[in-house]
Amino acid sequence: MDGGRILRDWRVRVVAADSTARSFCSVTCARRFVERSGDVPREVIVTEATHGREIDARDAWLVRTVASRDRYAPDRFRVFASRDAAERHAAAHGGAVEPGSEAFDRDRLPPGSPAR
Ligand SMILES: [Zn+2]
Repeated sequence: MDGGRILRDWRVRVVAADSTARSFCSVTCARRFVERSGDVPREVIVTEATHGREIDARDAWLVRTVASRDRYAPDRFRVFASRDAAERHAAAHGGAVEPGSEAFDRDRLPPGSPAR
């Protein structure tokens, strides 16, 4: 969407209310799109970090990590399938855990969320 390369390990897919699907390089990019779209997406599919599976964002847990060792990471969000895994990442690397169910709720997105 912003011209950045979309790597499979980090891909986020947003299905709009009109069924239009778009792929994004990162949680940050997808959130920006949702924020600007004025639309509540029908579905957001994120890629979890442990096994690289695509899961519904409503079932995911996000960590806004302070880890910087992931060379190809497009942003600071790490996606996990369980709260336990997210808490472990945050305990090991630092960062804040947030439920994926709220991550793409347009009304809760902070304006101008930092990309990195
Ligand atoms: Zn992007």
